[in-house]
Amino acid sequence: MRIILLGPPGSGKGTQAQLLVQRYGIVQLSTGEMLRAAVAAGTPVGLKAKEIMAGGGLVPDEVVVGIISDRIDQPDAKNGFILDGFPRTVPQAEALDDLLRHKHLKLDAVIELRVNESALLSRVETRVAQMRERGEEVRVDDTPEVLTRRLASYRSQTEPLIHYYSERRKLSTIDGMMAIDEVTRAVHRQLLALGAVEPKTHARSAAQAAPAKKAAKKAKSAKKTARKPAKAAKKAAKPAKPAKKAGKGAKKAAKKTVKKTVKKAVKKTAKKAVKKAVKKGSKTGPKKVTKKRAKR
Ligand code: AMP
Repeated sequence: MRIILLGPPGSGKGTQAQLLVQRYGIVQLSTGEMLRAAVAAGTPVGLKAKEIMAGGGLVPDEVVVGIISDRIDQPDAKNGFILDGFPRTVPQAEALDDLLRHKHLKLDAVIELRVNESALLSRVETRVAQMRERGEEVRVDDTPEVLTRRLASYRSQTEPLIHYYSERRKLSTIDGMMAIDEVTRAVHRQLLALGAVEPKTHARSAAQAAPAKKAAKKAKSAKKTARKPAKAAKKAAKPAKPAKKAGKGAKKAAKKTVKKTVKKAVKKTAKKAVKKAVKKGSKTGPKKVTKKRAKR
């Protein structure tokens, strides 16, 4: 499965991507994470990206496209991936289309997490507070001023992708203002509807379906057993096949005889069964009563 998560900073793309990774065993490819690692390692890409990222701008398209192209070729991405933070511009989306075509890979879905812009600042503030609590290094671009710039660049450069993918019938929009697990469920439902995941990956519904399946199997075998006596009677009553030479009339007569014999045999079997049951009832009935009476 190959999907793109689209949404402004603070929309929950990273959180949802991690949950999807756990659920479907695919990898999260976050250009932001890769660039931050490159900055930390001081690679040529990192040196190029450092200032741009700190100011809330976008790193040149060719840089991120190159990173993504290499990353998709890694063995752990064979099973599928979630693109988080990429593509961010229409030229990046076009480049992604090209490179997927070259690699003979198909994009399954683009999930847009739509959020209320006024909620984004407080979400990012919460993220910063949580990172501080965990003793993690806080991102240099998670400040109100830089966030405003990142939001502006999302609106002008990334939002056109909504139109780009909706035109290509790839876009699903989900309300990103719901609780985290509700968003996850909505994403899963979308992926199911699109055929991007097998229904069995929905662990709960699979577990719920198991007893129902068992019951259905039991009912089927009971039905089979119930049909057995009639089948046996039919078989027993079946006369030898009429000779091929015999005419239509002979065939008709033979069919009639078979029908009659079957009816008779079924009736006989039923009668026998009823007789047996009555006999059994009359045998056990009084005995029990006598025993009970004797006890008293
Ligand atoms: P993110 O972690 O996705 O919020 O990205 C952090 C920063 O990395 C962004 O503000 C950009 O400066 C840079 N960046 C990440 N992904 C891209 C991309 N696809 N294109 C350009 N710049 C990117």
